[in-house]
Amino acid sequence: MTVPRFWREQPSRYNLIGSHCKTCGKYYYPIRNLCPECRRDGEMEQYKFKGTGKIVTYTITHTTSDEFSDLVPYALAIVELDEGAKLTTQIVDEPEKVATGKRVHSVFRKLGSDGDAGIIYYGTKFELDKE
Ligand SMILES: [Zn+2]
Repeated sequence: MTVPRFWREQPSRYNLIGSHCKTCGKYYYPIRNLCPECRRDGEMEQYKFKGTGKIVTYTITHTTSDEFSDLVPYALAIVELDEGAKLTTQIVDEPEKVATGKRVHSVFRKLGSDGDAGIIYYGTKFELDKE
């Protein structure tokens, strides 16, 4: 899994915008123009997710590119949002606290930086709910 690539390719990560099919009621993330269930009968609208869900599975990442080296190790999880869509995201808590099934919510954090250009990337990550 190459981490930085999908972060950069998905501007919708900034505010968790996805798609909702008014025909079948399913939610998708990131944005899709066509519902894979309904095809031409689907009516898609943009939808802003609440940003709450639970951890389906996760891995602890120990290696990353240089620009992310201050972040390792960290937990990279597949989160199932309460609406049903799934996404891959970083969990900001200590990796040892992360567990399958735990509740999480979205937070806006620094993703990384481009040292040469002095650019800092921000976007959505997830944090464990307080127990
Ligand atoms: Zn549909």
